[in-house]
Amino acid sequence: MGNRPKRSLGQNFLVDPNIQRKIVEAAAVAPGDEVLEIGPGRGALTRHLRAAGVRLTVVELDDQLAAELAADPDEAFTVVHDDVLKVPLRPLFESWTGVIVLGNIPYNITTPIIFRLLEAPRPARILLLVQAEVADRVVSAPGSKTYGALSVGVQSVARAERLFTVPPSVFRPVPKVSSALLRLTPMTPSPLSSAGSETLRTLTRAAFGWRRKKLATTLWRHPDLRMDREEAKAALEGLGHPPSVRPERLSPEDFVALAGLLARPRCPRVRPA
Ligand code: SAM
Repeated sequence: MGNRPKRSLGQNFLVDPNIQRKIVEAAAVAPGDEVLEIGPGRGALTRHLRAAGVRLTVVELDDQLAAELAADPDEAFTVVHDDVLKVPLRPLFESWTGVIVLGNIPYNITTPIIFRLLEAPRPARILLLVQAEVADRVVSAPGSKTYGALSVGVQSVARAERLFTVPPSVFRPVPKVSSALLRLTPMTPSPLSSAGSETLRTLTRAAFGWRRKKLATTLWRHPDLRMDREEAKAALEGLGHPPSVRPERLSPEDFVALAGLLARPRCPRVRPA
């Protein structure tokens, strides 16, 4: 455990046992549950999860930390030495849709981790300690300044809650920013197919990339969308919005409905990003 924390791997270790316990309690695990921990590091959350009697699989990229964790084996504990963004996760579990995911994750790969976990089929619930500012963006409501593609992408398939703030002082090394625990509970059945999710991502990237434009304009002029002008107006009116509406006024459900229209065969020009 003597090696220096690696910035490149986002290593900020949680050193406060009370916060460690609070985070694991928020995951509400029960003995026998299948749990995935992302980035176990020196075991700050791992030890509490193991004490709770769950069937735990951890994915850790750091060579030395993975080796140290694997040196303490038991039949309910599996160490996968790999990159969480590359390793196929579903085959690691008996029933992926029942899995509880927990992690104090590297901040530089927060968004890709969230989107990877929210690809269908999805786990039962996901608890991630992330930068407070990212948690705010994820749970943000329509009309708010921080509402954007991330908020819509997550809230269109999961209930998103910011549970509590964690101060920089409980980590080593001490980061510059506060963190927050995010709980995502995927909806069942999923409101979106995989193709629908892909279209939604293209749509939200375009809409919030051109955030200050009227959404009707983006729908018919953006190169990735190019909906017919009249069709764009009708689609927005059908959702109860004037054509002058800006993207931040639409709810995640509105965006799902628009993605459905874009994915229809008579509007085939949407190109995946
Ligand atoms: N869970 C520990 C804790 O709370 O003290 C460590 C948290 S630290 C913020 C993030 C952990 O993720 C580190 O152990 C780091 O080595 C690991 N990590 C970084 N990138 C990773 C990746 N792509 N796949 C898996 N683990 C990764």
